[in-house]
Amino acid sequence: MEKLVPSPLIQALKKHKYNMVGIHSAVKRCKWFYEALTTGRSCYKQKFYGINSHQCIQMSPTLFYCTQQCLFCWRAQNRDLQITWDEMKLPRWDPPEKIVDGILKAQERILTGYKANPKANPRKFREALRPKHVAISLTGEPTLYEPLGELLRILHARGMTSFLVTNGTLPQKLANMGVEPTQLYVSVCAPNEQVFRCVCRPQIPEAWARLNETLSLLPSFRCPTVIRSTLVRGKNMECASDYAKLIAKAKPTYIETKAYMHVGFSGLRLGFDNMPSHKEVLDFAKDLSEKTGYKVIDESEDSRVVLLSKRERPLRFGSD
Ligand code: SF4
Ligand code: SF4
Repeated sequence: MEKLVPSPLIQALKKHKYNMVGIHSAVKRCKWFYEALTTGRSCYKQKFYGINSHQCIQMSPTLFYCTQQCLFCWRAQNRDLQITWDEMKLPRWDPPEKIVDGILKAQERILTGYKANPKANPRKFREALRPKHVAISLTGEPTLYEPLGELLRILHARGMTSFLVTNGTLPQKLANMGVEPTQLYVSVCAPNEQVFRCVCRPQIPEAWARLNETLSLLPSFRCPTVIRSTLVRGKNMECASDYAKLIAKAKPTYIETKAYMHVGFSGLRLGFDNMPSHKEVLDFAKDLSEKTGYKVIDESEDSRVVLLSKRERPLRFGSD
């Protein structure tokens, strides 16, 4: 890995508790994994979709690589740390089988730290030894990983569900995956091209047109689809009608509006003031609801996220 990206970057990521897997993937313990094991609290995806937080692996197959440099991203970006590397230069790929084995081992190592923790719930600890879900959402753009479809196939064959989050700038990759995730997220974090350029800072030409192509593709997916908007106060919380037009094109099963959180490397680019309150996110969601016809059906104040849906109730995948 050191040969592909500068080693100070690897050290910085390790300090941020990224567990490297192979040459371009990583697992990071999610805050909610810890909470679920030690306090019984769980993430909003458990609340909305039944995904058990303590049986979830948060990972990325493209830790250092992305087609955008979103202001709000918690990923270390080129130049953030005065370290430069080519975020678009794809390395040689680890085979998907190796990545799946590697993330399971990394999760096991993370869990070992809880064995002697008196706060850890013993039943949940035992269950956590058998992960049931993989959130491909940690950082980076996963569709840059060529064998992504095969990775999904292996995860599903091993009895795990998958939620895949993409920025939608590589529509052809998405269209040709061959295997669908259990649930597909497309990030839409700007109502129009001008805001998109400022907030999502694309690194490839015609990224806005490509995102729109992905939105047009979305209705062809059989799995539930989600438009996820990370809302940044003072940056992209205007023009709900324009967001509504994008949503009309994509016809997603759900919309999630979520507050930007001042965490990770985003702290180098944005301030605490850019985090909207839960009420601001809810107000925005209600406005969107009026303009799209989607209903506000759930929310999580802890994560400052609101779920809008065409369905009365979301589909649930876990066993909780
Ligand atoms: S679904 Fe997301 S928030 Fe919930 S435990 Fe997994 S990684 Fe964390
Ligand atoms: S698309 Fe995702 S990984 Fe890429 S810069 Fe934006 S938030 Fe970060």
